Amino acid sequence: MGERKGTNKYYPPDYNPNKGGLNKFLGTHALRERARKIHLGIIIIRFEMPYNIWCDGCNNHIGMGVRYNAEKTKVGMYHSTPVYQFKMKCHLCDNYIQMKTDPGNLDYEIVSGARRQENRWDPLQNEQVVPETKETSRRMADDAMFRLEHQGKDQGAADAAAPRLRLLMDRAEEKWKDDYGANCALRAEMRARRTDLKRRGADDAALLARSGGLQLDLAPETEEDRRLARLLTLAPRETGAERLLRTVRAIEAKPALDSALTDATALRRLEDKVAAHKPLALGIKRAKPSSSATASSSSSSTALSTLVAYGSSDSSSD
Ligand SMILES: [Zn+2]
Repeated sequence: MGERKGTNKYYPPDYNPNKGGLNKFLGTHALRERARKIHLGIIIIRFEMPYNIWCDGCNNHIGMGVRYNAEKTKVGMYHSTPVYQFKMKCHLCDNYIQMKTDPGNLDYEIVSGARRQENRWDPLQNEQVVPETKETSRRMADDAMFRLEHQGKDQGAADAAAPRLRLLMDRAEEKWKDDYGANCALRAEMRARRTDLKRRGADDAALLARSGGLQLDLAPETEEDRRLARLLTLAPRETGAERLLRTVRAIEAKPALDSALTDATALRRLEDKVAAHKPLALGIKRAKPSSSATASSSSSSTALSTLVAYGSSDSSSD
């Protein structure tokens, strides 16, 4: 449509034919917005999908004959024939589809963004019903002998197919003879499904109500879900960091010495007893530490241990 705008009959009042045509005078391209990328060697044309494809972006089927605004560029030559490439955006997603002409095979080739639906078989090979070609129908109209032969061939094909058709019809009749039974079976199956759907709907609604107003479509519950949920209840109540902190606190709270010694009253009593048995108080001179350090230390340690034992038994009796 764009190109038609350049050929209208309106000439502005200040138009000067000496400057060239109307487009030159207006500074526009004859193809208008379809030529907006002409400086890149691209023009925008209407491209019609030559066969059925699947889009790589959305996996949708795009039928033969769907039209796109495509960017057309020349990408090469096949002998003296130019090869053109077309780039278009899928109308269902953001994927770009690129196709180019294939003059050698009189076909189009997909460069990227799509897959071709392969149905290039000969329908006669798998006994499909194929409409007569134009040539055959023309010959049938002109040539009486050819028509007779053709009709004979058609009759032969019908006779050959008759027993098979009879079998198929019998089978269909057999299947639909007990229509009451078939109806009952279908309704029973549907009833079970409906009950199940209703129950699941109620369960889902209860779950969503507990979640506090979530609006979701819940997937059906599976055995795997139940197993995972059971495992979650066995999960540790605290993290590794929390456990470490708890251990540190426990160590800090634990007394560095025995419980009898840290007990404040027991400690005081022990100090009194040690003061009462001071060597100076008993008039015994303290031995020099350098002469018999090991002996004195061992004797003092045994004395201390007996004192501790005495103190603890004393405190327990209290
Ligand atoms: Zn797509």
